[in-house]
This record gives sequence, C-alpha cells and structure tokens, in this order.
Amino acid sequence: MGATIERRDVVRLGAVEVPYAFKRVPRRRHVHILVNEEGAIEVRAPWRFSLAKAREVLRENARWVVRTLDGARERLAQRPPLITGTRLPLLDASLRLEVRPRAQMDLFAGARKGQGRVERRGTALRVSTASLGEGELRGLIEHWYRREAATHLAARVEHYSPRLGVRPSRVTIRGQRSRWGSCSGKGTVSLNWRLMMVPGALADYVVVHELCHLRHMNHSPRFWAMVGGAIPDYRDRRRRLNALQGRLPL
Ligand SMILES: [Zn+2]
Repeated sequence: MGATIERRDVVRLGAVEVPYAFKRVPRRRHVHILVNEEGAIEVRAPWRFSLAKAREVLRENARWVVRTLDGARERLAQRPPLITGTRLPLLDASLRLEVRPRAQMDLFAGARKGQGRVERRGTALRVSTASLGEGELRGLIEHWYRREAATHLAARVEHYSPRLGVRPSRVTIRGQRSRWGSCSGKGTVSLNWRLMMVPGALADYVVVHELCHLRHMNHSPRFWAMVGGAIPDYRDRRRRLNALQGRLPL
C-alpha cells in the first residue's frame, strides 16, 4: 500500500457548500472527520473508502460539522489584530508587538526584498517589514516563534528524556492546527511551535506525553502511569491545554 491519497471535493450540507479534503490512508480502520481552526475540513478514511461514502458520512454528521465550522470562524474573528500594542504570549510571559514599516533605505541596505525582520527587545517583539499585510506579518512572526520553539522544546526534550529513560531519534517542529504533538514509529517526536504560546507547564506536558509514546505507542493505563510519573497533575494540564486549543492569537 502506498502513501495517503488526497483529493478535494465539495459537499452540500443544508444551505452551505462545504469544501473538504478527502484522504484515504493506508491501514486506517475507521473514518474520521477533522475540522481545523482555520475551518478546513478533512475526511480521513480507510483505503477502500469511496468519495460517495465520504459525502454520506459528512451529510450524516452535517449538524456537528456546521456547528464546529461556525465555532472555528467565530474564534478566527476574535483573533487579535497584528498591530503595535497587541500582546503575544510566550510561555509564561507575553511580548508587546511593535510593527514598524521598514524604510526604503533599509531595503536597499541589504536584506532580501519583500522580507522583514523580527527581533526581541526585552519584552517587545519588534517586526520591521516593508509590507504590512496581515499574511506577511503572520508569516514573519510564525517564523520567529518556530525558531524559539526549536531551541526551547529541544531543551525540554533533553530535560525529560533521561528522566523517562527514552531517547527520540529526532525532534521536529511542526505547525498543524489540530495537534500539539505526535510521535512516529521511527522514534521522531514532533512538537507544535504554538506550544510557545501556552504556559510552560502545559508545553512540558506535551513533551512528556510524546516522549512516553516512545515506550508505549498507545494510550493504555501503562502509558498514562508513565506520564503521571513525570507529571502528576497531567490531567489538569491536559484540560487547560484543551481549553486553549483554537484560542491562540496565531
Ligand atoms: Zn498521545
């Protein structure tokens, strides 16, 4: 069996045309509908699942899908604008965003055209950019967070690995909306850069959770006992983390 096959489709749910991605995944046993925080829908289905059946599943779950989409849109609309003065969370602190247009001279002075610069100055995160478009700003700020995540989260992995008696083969930083982290059968631990926007204790919980999957590739009682050994209040942290899902500014 090959890799995941994806195609785009549109289904009518009540009064709305809803686009979605249909993914057939090798070795998958059950069909699953995902709605991410951008309002994108994905149907992940077993290998032999047909497109007609995917539509059927969406129609059967139309009420849930539409309600979840509405919720995602509402939260999207509540995201703070990326302008000077907006506060961006960084673990247990926050940074004050400063957006400044980049002077023409600056552009000629060197750096790549169309790009900007992000630097932290104390408690300020200063973004200089020639383009003040929302998308560009978002991209620049995300890039900065990703770099911070690569350093901080790798250090947390280093901290917890010996305590848990595990060792990941690799740590990668990802940015999926729907998950905080994952662990592959090959021992790669993937962590979401958005963990830099939640309190450090909650980010630590995800690090420990994924590291424990190196030992137990499931959510069995033994898995949770291992998580609890390192983080006794993991239930509380998981609950707080779930409450933050989709409520981050980026
Ligand atoms: Zn898990």
